[in-house]
Amino acid sequence: MKNLYIAGKWTPASDEGTAQTINPFDATPLETVAEASASDVDTAVAAARDAFDRGPWRHSTMAERTALLAKIAELLQRDKEQLAHTESLDTGKTLNEARADVDDTTAVFRYYAGIAGSHAGRVVDPGRTGVVSRITHEPVGVCALIAPWNYPLLQISWKLAPALAAGNTAVLKPSELTPLSTIALVALAEEAGVPPGAVNLLLGQGGTVGQALVAHPGIDLISFTGGLVTGERIMAAAARGVRRVALELGGKNPNIVFADTDFDTVVDNALTAAFLHSGQVCSAGARLIVEDSLHDSFVAELAARADRIRLGSGLDSDTECGPLISAAHRAKVERYIALGLSEGAELRAGGSRPAEPALADGFFLRPTVFAGCRRDMAVVQDEVFGPLVTVERFRTEEEAILLGNDTAYGLAGAVWTTDSGRAERVAGALRHGTVWINDYHPYLPQAEWGGFGKSGIGRELGPSGLDEYQEKKHVYHNTSPAPARWFSG
Ligand code: NDP
Repeated sequence: MKNLYIAGKWTPASDEGTAQTINPFDATPLETVAEASASDVDTAVAAARDAFDRGPWRHSTMAERTALLAKIAELLQRDKEQLAHTESLDTGKTLNEARADVDDTTAVFRYYAGIAGSHAGRVVDPGRTGVVSRITHEPVGVCALIAPWNYPLLQISWKLAPALAAGNTAVLKPSELTPLSTIALVALAEEAGVPPGAVNLLLGQGGTVGQALVAHPGIDLISFTGGLVTGERIMAAAARGVRRVALELGGKNPNIVFADTDFDTVVDNALTAAFLHSGQVCSAGARLIVEDSLHDSFVAELAARADRIRLGSGLDSDTECGPLISAAHRAKVERYIALGLSEGAELRAGGSRPAEPALADGFFLRPTVFAGCRRDMAVVQDEVFGPLVTVERFRTEEEAILLGNDTAYGLAGAVWTTDSGRAERVAGALRHGTVWINDYHPYLPQAEWGGFGKSGIGRELGPSGLDEYQEKKHVYHNTSPAPARWFSG
């Protein structure tokens, strides 16, 4: 049984509510977890509020914050295998992907440990003598940090590390589907010495616990990663009381391929872009846009290789793709497969559940390739968030850019070409928060991540990821005050 963590204590839900997490590989029970009640939400926010208003964390020195973040990073590496195993079981992703997630999470804690001290403010020239004018950076207050199920450990850490680096206190709410690595992370924060109340953990459903948390007047900032519809709801909730809000939402990400690029390299990377973690990646390259002269051979090879992708348990070293997260999510992706076919897409690979009896109880779907797609199809425009890639053709650079920007989202995209001038022109024209040239998926803790358009508001990672959690204060100090004589009376 896994409990909530409030005011430095592991505690069951006040109404003794529990929920069961399941293994998406075979739908067997994994762990029983506490499910927070409305009163637990109040208690957790009150604990974070008290720790912010009266506790030591807000007034901690940069050296203390840096030491805590560095310690968490060290403990993440100490427990890497265990954490990766937990993440693989809970999400279905492969152990190698989960290990990479632990390394990337560690890098995020190290990065914010490294920059916290040099991001404390600045002195500005006041334009006159006898005055000292400075900008100080201060914590915002109590932060609600809400993360999705596809990268549970990583996504919560993109929020928690900068929130703590800036001196905030936090209430974490992982997805009900994948809470286990977040529970482990909070235990590591406790072991690293985070003061009671500075980090609190609520478990439970988004529609109840999450909603109560974001509506709570004791919250000063909401940082949310998840779907567009929930994001809109959260933004509306944040409007009441004018609370700060940062949103990392979905994407429908163009992967643009010019014919001059190396064939094997681009097909191989297109597969990774589309099918890593069964396509349940916000930046998945789910929309391939391929130059006409390359299109047919490209699609043939892509489909042949997609058909060879090995599905299985994330813990099995032969597995290349795990299951989808839940039966409900697989049903959503299957509806999109049916919709794509009804819109006239040509099915070139996948499109169905695997035939292997060993996979029958899990939420598996074969990697699916749709060719003959047009920009007006829902399957091209909507974020499917599963193992489904659509392919469109283009003839000119202008057309490639037009299609690449033909989305309400704007999270990420890529361009593949050996013509460096063209690569720069296309990258410059794409209205997306990250653009890869001749690569797909890498991100860096020191580089901002976030979206244009409906992909969100604000940025995580990089210095901007810390800015989100800081108020800026101008302190103007007149060292030689004298009467101003504005008024004669
Ligand atoms: P959801 O929006 O359904 O859920 C995200 C989180 O919000 C979960 O913890 C969920 O809890 C919680 N939640 C749900 N409803 C509410 C509510 N009314 N109030 C407060 N919290 C709530 O998204 P998914 O979990 O389905 O994640 C997939 C989405 O996340 C995709 O659209 C994907 O693109 C996006 N995403 C974006 C990333 C980015 O960097 N831009 C990165 C990763 C994913 P619970 O699960 O318990 O219901």
